[in-house]
Parts: sequence; structure tokens; C-alpha cells
Amino acid sequence: MVVIGPETFAGFSFRIAAMMIPDNPDRFLSTPSPEDLEAQDHYYMGLALEEAGRAERLDEVPIGAVLVLGGKVLARGHNQTRWRRDPCAHAELRAIQRATQATGDLRLPGAVVYTTVEPCFMCAGALVHARVERVVWGVRDEKFGGCVSLGQVLDHPDANHQVKYTEGIRATEAADLLRSFFKSKREAARLKRSQDRS
Ligand SMILES: [Zn+2]
Repeated sequence: MVVIGPETFAGFSFRIAAMMIPDNPDRFLSTPSPEDLEAQDHYYMGLALEEAGRAERLDEVPIGAVLVLGGKVLARGHNQTRWRRDPCAHAELRAIQRATQATGDLRLPGAVVYTTVEPCFMCAGALVHARVERVVWGVRDEKFGGCVSLGQVLDHPDANHQVKYTEGIRATEAADLLRSFFKSKREAARLKRSQDRS
């Protein structure tokens, strides 16, 4: 399992999903076979990874999300906390807000949210409030993850709604984006320190 931790990405192991890009995602059924479900997850996670790439190009921590409802991508989002100066501008929240604006409904039953990183407590709470059906993520977040790493917000037995989840989909790609981003930040900080000393 790939996890994000302070000693980032040392010694992780993970499962690489087979490359199964469907010709036509619309062929996915509401009750897909396990093989179709894996192909579906792989495909939509690719869109979430594209969103993470958008965040990276904007110098944001590269995390992306897409929200799928009825076989259609209803909304996308990427992390925008830095330029918005908003700790709530997480990819999943951006996608949920856009989706509810699109539907005009408070809740999104039947929706599946694909996000490159395990949702934090805030986003996991919003996913429950929105009555999302399932969440799929790439890597775990040991420092902020509210679904399995530090908490059980999505499927707490005492809550009035439980969200199903699948993890580890295209985890290496999600982890590589994060690793590259934080490496560049560390190098920039090191360069600045050496310039300050000279
Ligand atoms: Zn979050």
C-alpha cells in the first residue's frame, strides 16, 4: 500500500492496476462485473490524475478529483489551497461543490468520487454529507487521511450514511506526482538557504 508520510515514500509497496483503458467508458453499467469495475476505476482515476497535474502546474500540492454520476463525469476539481489562501480548497470539495451546483441538489446519491489521495477528515465528512455512494483513491495519507489512516469517517458504523471505498488505484502515479512536487520544494528551500548564507 502506498502511503504519504513524513519520510515520504520510503520503502513502500503497492499494487499496480492492470492497464485497462476502455474504448468507451459509457459502456460501463451501473452494476459492472469486477473486471469492468477495475477498468472503470482505472479510467476515471486517469482523469483525477490529470486534475492533479493541473494543480502541480499551478504550484499546488498535486491532488485531483473527479465526480462521476450515472456514468458521466459531472465535475472535476484540483487542489487550490495555496493561491486561494483557503485551507478548504481541496480537490474533493471543489468537485462536490461543482457537482451540486450542476445538479441543484444538496445530495449526490449514486455518485462515485475518484481522488488521487485518501480524503482528509474534512473532505470525507463532506462526502458523507453529500451521500456519495463510493470513493476511490490512489495513495493513503498517513498525516491527514480521514478514511483509513487516522479515522473512519466514510464508513463509521454509527453514522447515518456509509460510503463504500476502494483504494490503491493507480497509486504509483499519484505517489510519483507528490514525490516530485515535494522533492522540488525541498531543493528550492535548500537553494534558498545556500543563497542566504552566501
Ligand atoms: Zn480534503
